[in-house]
Amino acid sequence: MSKTRVRFAPSPTGFFHIGSARTALFNWLYARHTGGTFVLRIEDTDDERNRVEYLNILKDGMKWLGLDWDEGPDVGGDFGPYFQSQRADIYRQYLEILRKKGRAYDKDGAVFFKVSGETQILHDAVYGDVARMEEKDFPIFRSNGTPVFHFVNVVDDICMQITNVIRGQDHLTNTNKHIELFKAFDAPMPQFAHIPLILKSEGQGKMSKRDRGALIEEYQQKNYLPEAVRNYLCMLGWNPKNDREIMPIGEIIALFDFHGIVKSNARFDERKMSHFNTEYLRALAPDKFVAMARRAIETESDIKLPEDSAYVEKVFLLCQPKAANLECFPSMVEFFFNDAYKFDAAAREKVYKKGNPDERLAQVFEVLKSLESFDHDSIYSAISALAEKNGVKITEYMQILRYSVSGLAGGPDLMPMLEVLGKSKVCERVEAYLKR
Ligand code: GLU
Repeated sequence: MSKTRVRFAPSPTGFFHIGSARTALFNWLYARHTGGTFVLRIEDTDDERNRVEYLNILKDGMKWLGLDWDEGPDVGGDFGPYFQSQRADIYRQYLEILRKKGRAYDKDGAVFFKVSGETQILHDAVYGDVARMEEKDFPIFRSNGTPVFHFVNVVDDICMQITNVIRGQDHLTNTNKHIELFKAFDAPMPQFAHIPLILKSEGQGKMSKRDRGALIEEYQQKNYLPEAVRNYLCMLGWNPKNDREIMPIGEIIALFDFHGIVKSNARFDERKMSHFNTEYLRALAPDKFVAMARRAIETESDIKLPEDSAYVEKVFLLCQPKAANLECFPSMVEFFFNDAYKFDAAAREKVYKKGNPDERLAQVFEVLKSLESFDHDSIYSAISALAEKNGVKITEYMQILRYSVSGLAGGPDLMPMLEVLGKSKVCERVEAYLKR
């Protein structure tokens, strides 16, 4: 068996869409699963619509997702340029082959491919056998001299010795033309695997570039974890059949094959994507989490972090288990770093729903002031003793205390939160709040 060679062959005519990313990912997974080679080939013959900036976005997005390619732009390789725009000579040579075989002819300034008139059977690894007959000859070079997609796609797959063509189901109808071409060249046929479409989150229809959550760039900007996005994309059209979805990439690589690819279209689910992100964020190693949280705060918020990195680290790690994403993280931790923190209106309503919170706060303030040791156990024992003495639930003290020092109704666990803030800050804030 020859070694697996797969390719991702985008036309860089737009931003990096999750449908394209998923195609790249499945090719990459298959290459890594088989120990084969993953080629990146840029199908840029339609030069009007191709832009260098799109190419950079694409490469950036692939690198961010960890989809490293073995041949193509930015890496050496034995197969020459990986931009179709640089392969005109090769396409001319291949056209000559077809002419010699009597399978290409000129008409109206264009060059046409002469079809065989035979029914072709596509053995698709996902969709099974599909029989089709190509009725009409089709153009392979336009009258302006540029080659047509079907032709360059097949010529490149031949030159680059591609063994498996893994691409979107929207190409299923093109494949018959491609089979005709492979046969006309007497070239070995790659195995085709068409992967299901990604539908938009609601209603029918393919997810388009305009749908929310459709561009990889959006996740980069929102500081999603690339491993989470990649893991989620693996589950869009592939099923490990083990009732697990959140899995390390190494396990996915080990399990990935065409049997697991589902035929029915996959539906994009923004909430699920965000859930994957939350799970990955909470499971992140402390030093990685601290680095990412710091970057999110420095780039996406106005918060000025103090010099004291031990304090910053304590705050971040305290809040990590409650962090839903890095986009909301700055607003969650702001009060630790800013004495002029804001009081949230909804939180206020919740805290002042019943009882007399200000009176409770005054009582708890007296207790906190007199504490010698301000660790979470001591704080907890003191507050629960107070609650017991006054015959009220401890949460009545906790809610108003949290609100007065943070302006919020939720957040990290209260006792360690008070401990991290420290006695003087807590007492200053409570006192100021009582005097407001
Ligand atoms: N350039 C084509 C696309 O972006 C490639 C199709 C294929 O993978 O063969 O859809």
